[in-house]
Amino acid sequence: MTNEVLIIGGGPAGLTAAKSLADRGANVVLVERSESLGGMARELTCKGLVECRSCGACFAVDRASEILKEPSVEVLLMSEVISVRKGDAGYEAKVKVSPRYVTDDCIGCGKCVEACPVEGKAISPPKGTGQPRIHWIDKRKCLHFKKGECAKCADVCPTKAIDFEDRATNVTRKAASIVYATGIEPIGACEVSRLGCGVLEDVVSSVDAERILNEKGRLVRPSDGAAPKKVAVIQCVGSRSVKNGVDYCSKFCCKYATKISQLIMDVDPEVNLDFYFMDLRTLHEPQDEFKRWAKDKKTVRLIRSMPSVIQPGKDGKLVVKVATETDTEAQENEYDLVLLSVGMRPQGVSTDLAGSLGIKVDERGFAKASADLEAQGIHVVGAVSEPMDIEEAAVRAASAATRVKLTKEVAR
Ligand SMILES: Cc1cc2nc3c(=O)[nH]c(=O)nc-3n(C[C@H](O)[C@H](O)[C@H](O)COP(=O)(O)OP(=O)(O)OC[C@H]3O[C@@H](n4cnc5c(N)ncnc54)[C@H](O)[C@@H]3O)c2cc1C
Ligand code: SF4
Ligand code: SF4
Ligand code: SF4
Repeated sequence: MTNEVLIIGGGPAGLTAAKSLADRGANVVLVERSESLGGMARELTCKGLVECRSCGACFAVDRASEILKEPSVEVLLMSEVISVRKGDAGYEAKVKVSPRYVTDDCIGCGKCVEACPVEGKAISPPKGTGQPRIHWIDKRKCLHFKKGECAKCADVCPTKAIDFEDRATNVTRKAASIVYATGIEPIGACEVSRLGCGVLEDVVSSVDAERILNEKGRLVRPSDGAAPKKVAVIQCVGSRSVKNGVDYCSKFCCKYATKISQLIMDVDPEVNLDFYFMDLRTLHEPQDEFKRWAKDKKTVRLIRSMPSVIQPGKDGKLVVKVATETDTEAQENEYDLVLLSVGMRPQGVSTDLAGSLGIKVDERGFAKASADLEAQGIHVVGAVSEPMDIEEAAVRAASAATRVKLTKEVAR
């Protein structure tokens, strides 16, 4: 048994497991498929304009920065485990590291993005608040690779960080234990077609809303860039319905939607905001707090109802059709923008990799953690195992990390 641990997935759960294990003296290899660390959390915005609202969005950024400085954690970005073999001394994993075409010398100045002539840009910064802030080239879009005729990014780069000669490599890593933390994917709002996603421009998913808030500092209408004066927030989009997505409660969407609503009102107290919900499940926080907050705001209404359909109205407005709480009549309410609060599905559970590690799927599609699996040195952590928010993913990953067997403990 060695002190090496392989972690698959660099979201809040994988990062926390990496930190806890490094603190215990393990040598960790963290394999992350995307170009940066942070997982789904890197796509979230801070919801605390006036005071911290404990949304957890900053957690992933802080933890990712810590891990990047940690000498006993090797981070492999744009990487995937392509095979794992179990031997007497533990596991041997083959990892494919894809080329980024930008070296670690990148200082994130963004001059290359400005210079890139491709519509939609072939060179980009990491998503959201993802760490490190090293840019990357999408070979499928880049004119250098498609036509051999562009090097504008290399011409303007002040640190000579563009490397068109970068190539994919396969590396092998040995580990006594593996932590599986492949996380979640958001449910696509367009899977619920009756709510106008993809047809009505100003119907946005919560993932879109997070991005707009991150980029602009406030919510604006995609159609004309105007700040909306009447906003509807609709809960349980895709969750708690077999027909429209998944039958379980995604657990974190009431938490983030109440905080996004508060942020919208902090930015512009004149907004009229209607919050449609089936029941409020605000996780660790008492729902009364949000209800009291809403009552104090004269322009916020909490409406216990699930809208049936959203249609285009006059002058770019959106018409939300909804039954009243007593179900006796239907109402039509007009908005400038509608936000659909989407839930989640687990990611990477039905893959060959999960299968080769012996990871089983439960009846709702989540990866099953078990004592038997842990005895084999395989630990399933984070939201791939059941719906959970950032805080719970981190707490449970830290707890799972204490069960990973190491030969040599070094208390730090
Ligand atoms: C719209 C939305 C808003 C949310 N808002 C909040 C909020 O305000 N507060 C809150 O607490 N929670 C919020 N959440 C929930 C939060 O995002 C999750 O609880 C958290 O990200 C779970 O962490 P995780 O590490 O388990 O998974 P993830 O964050 O999904 O991380 C998994 C990582 O694994 C990587 N990966 C996947 N497969 C592989 C593979 N085969 N090889 C290598 N890497 C792989 C992924 O690229 C990803 O980086 C929100 C979720 C959504 C969808
Ligand atoms: S111009 Fe160079 S240093 Fe600046 S972001 Fe692009 S690659 Fe990085
Ligand atoms: S080579 Fe040209 S097309 Fe490719 S990323 Fe650089 S600027 Fe964009
Ligand atoms: S957390 Fe709230 S919005 Fe999300 S599925 Fe559960 S009840 Fe619906």
